[in-house]
Amino acid sequence: MRFDIISVLPGLLESPFAHSILQRAQKKGISEIVVHNLRDYATNKQKSVDDYPYGGGSGMVMTIPPFAACIEKLKSEREYDEIIFMSPDGETLNQAIANQLSIKKNIIILCGHYKGIDQRIRDIYVTREISIGDYVLSGGELPAAVLVDAVVRLIPGVLSDETSALSDSFQDDLLDAPVYTRPADWNGHKVPDILLGGNTPEIEKWRHEQAIERTKARRPDLLNRGE
Ligand code: SAH
Repeated sequence: MRFDIISVLPGLLESPFAHSILQRAQKKGISEIVVHNLRDYATNKQKSVDDYPYGGGSGMVMTIPPFAACIEKLKSEREYDEIIFMSPDGETLNQAIANQLSIKKNIIILCGHYKGIDQRIRDIYVTREISIGDYVLSGGELPAAVLVDAVVRLIPGVLSDETSALSDSFQDDLLDAPVYTRPADWNGHKVPDILLGGNTPEIEKWRHEQAIERTKARRPDLLNRGE
């Protein structure tokens, strides 16, 4: 799976993809993440990518030509399943959206800055708009990194068995059960006995019950979702 991320601050996206699971996914050739510097597509002398808003008001607006040039170039090279704009007014990212995107082949992600991007870029090119939550960040780079991480870890072969995504929170509308590791006794704080007994079916049952209890207590809305 390939991601092309278009950004005016590509440096912000170097570290998130250069470690751990995302780095391994790229080394294994399972995912390819290419970051494009929007400024390279600016045609004016100042290499500017933003301008004053029509109608006045505060904040600058990202202009159409650099985004259009970069998107058109990418589209001439391969077919894209989605062109996603990271935006606080988009649909809120959740595990279901990450699952849907994890079976796609090629995705472009646009990162906004300042007041946002000219509405016509959204009208002409964007197929999906995704928010990472009801708060406003200064740019789309961190949201893009969040989205790519959530999606890539779901692609078969990326996670090893020990870190399988199947039991993660939200995957089955349940939060994850609590987890423990050694030592079994930390200053009197003990690991639940059931986990030490080695009875796998009983442990699975306990984990499921714990997941239901935790979901009831913290996110009852998830339990009612399927009804
Ligand atoms: N004026 C805009 C916010 C602009 S913030 C509004 O009120 O909707 C600048 C850019 O940061 C946005 O264009 C978007 O790409 C990114 N961004 C900020 N918050 C975000 C969020 N919660 N989810 C996804 N992208 C976000």
